[in-house]
Amino acid sequence: MDDLRLYIGGSWLESEAGARFEARSPATGAVLATLAEGTREDARRAIAAAHDGKRHLARLSVWERARLCLRVADAVERRRAVLAQTLTLDQGKPHAEAEAEVDSTIEGWRNAADHAKWLETSVIPVEDPHKRVLTIRQPRGVYGVITPWNFPLNIPTEYLAPGLAAGNAIVWIPAPTTSVVAVQLMECLEEAEIPPGAVNLVTGPGPVVGDEVVANPGTDAVGFTGSSATGEQIARRAAGKPLLLELGGNGPTLILDDADLDRAVEATAFGSFFNAGQVCSAAERILVHRRVHDEVAERLADHARRIRLDDPRKPETEMGPLNNEPVAAKTDRHLADAIARGANVLTGGGRATGFPTNLYYQATVITGITRDSLINREETFGPVAPLTMFESEGEALAWANDNTLGLVSAVFTRDLSRAFYFAERLRTGIVNVNESTNYWELHIPFGGVAGKRSGVGRIGGKHTLMEMTDLRTICLDVRRSDREGSLRTG
Ligand code: NDP
Repeated sequence: MDDLRLYIGGSWLESEAGARFEARSPATGAVLATLAEGTREDARRAIAAAHDGKRHLARLSVWERARLCLRVADAVERRRAVLAQTLTLDQGKPHAEAEAEVDSTIEGWRNAADHAKWLETSVIPVEDPHKRVLTIRQPRGVYGVITPWNFPLNIPTEYLAPGLAAGNAIVWIPAPTTSVVAVQLMECLEEAEIPPGAVNLVTGPGPVVGDEVVANPGTDAVGFTGSSATGEQIARRAAGKPLLLELGGNGPTLILDDADLDRAVEATAFGSFFNAGQVCSAAERILVHRRVHDEVAERLADHARRIRLDDPRKPETEMGPLNNEPVAAKTDRHLADAIARGANVLTGGGRATGFPTNLYYQATVITGITRDSLINREETFGPVAPLTMFESEGEALAWANDNTLGLVSAVFTRDLSRAFYFAERLRTGIVNVNESTNYWELHIPFGGVAGKRSGVGRIGGKHTLMEMTDLRTICLDVRRSDREGSLRTG
């Protein structure tokens, strides 16, 4: 068992207080490693190191920073097998999903290298004949980046790769329950010879080290993915700093009466059960037209009954345990509340027994969800497909939009005009037509709609690069002196 340390200024260090915490696998219950428990002072050390890192990065051209990202991608690729194995044990996802996440991490570093190189800016025509006005994109400085446990390689890469490609130095605070695999990603960055201080890793409690990084005046900007409540706390503590916030979703999925039901059921099951439902874009509210409701419910239940829930290291496993007890307890709470309000469990409905930990959860399909139930109002984040019946398009739209969250929605219909009706009216940042809420590619802009609690800004490809840079306007007065002017005209 390893004793893992913080990575600050290019060195692996103990926490200044010497404290440690255990990383326990949700799959096996075994202790995987111990991690340094960072303190506010450690976070401050990391911020100071990041200021040195920023100066090192400023000496590199965009092309050199792009090559740096490519070297990280290569290092991740070389360690693909080990990373996937650790990700499975640390997070709990099936091995095939872990491999796919490592691949997407490799792609994320390569994407950032590409996008940084082609980030053109404009020369702006102006009224004054003596002026030339142009814009350039500049790094913002030192970024605090706080990432969750559901995609502990991919989500950090969404910030670290474009952040570094743009020339920002970063202090990264990973979620405590997936910090072992975070240390392994950091080792890849070290192997790629990033400049000292360019990326610093501080493990420890979010409300301590995360809060210090967010609020400290030495941090110029903040990127965070996680719950809406924490995101709002971070926004208050970081007041005035540029923010990129990717928060919760409550993905309404609308299945209209003319939908291709094979497609709708397959895509919705993926939406509800992929990564055991621990996805911000998961299908968390499934609204089905009365004419097809019972058939959809039965087919989803049939799908759920066939999902192989088991040790995520086994190749045939399709769903592993939930990552941590708070998310499992929240799923329990949401189901108990729905049942108390009259909902009907078709399959699943609670934790599975006979596994090494109490975090294995049955794939659940539940019908008759009421508007005031917790499942409808909040993000559940567990393997639950909750169904509600609707009669009219207007009713479905009103129900879908009556929520504090607005990240991703899905609509299933064969009719293009009905698809557009919803695509333009659903209050979510992304609307997928005839596709699961979980569909996304790395370069597609992803984020919440204004007026809801799903976040601020857009992540993905060049959009993250734009979010993580300042647009600098440069005005040049190009008039010539009289003598030169007369030479020119004479
Ligand atoms: P949180 O938002 O509480 O945590 C996410 C990260 O933020 C963790 O690393 C956490 O550390 C850290 N953090 C917590 N408080 C602060 C703070 N004050 N300042 C800075 N960082 C902080 O999510 P949870 O892990 O508790 O999950 C709860 C719920 O959030 C889930 O059930 C789900 O609904 C939602 N969620 C959504 C995600 C998404 O992708 N949109 C991802 C993860 C969760 P620590 O664990 O030490 O508190």
